[in-house]
Amino acid sequence: MPRTRMPFGVTAQFPNRSGAMVNVAGWAIHEWYCDGCPARSKRGGSTDQAEIARQAQAHADACSGMPK
Ligand SMILES: [Zn+2]
Repeated sequence: MPRTRMPFGVTAQFPNRSGAMVNVAGWAIHEWYCDGCPARSKRGGSTDQAEIARQAQAHADACSGMPK
């Protein structure tokens, strides 16, 4: 089954409406960052992966930054 190639350390990706990816990364400490704009999770924020993934998806829904 073909899989989208993801950058090292990235565990989930949510595309925004312009096709830029919001990436969820990390195993012990989770964070998200957007390929379409400078947005990213706050340092010292949630370490819960489900919460980080929820924030990443919410950002993907709100963001219209173009992929770099
Ligand atoms: Zn963004």
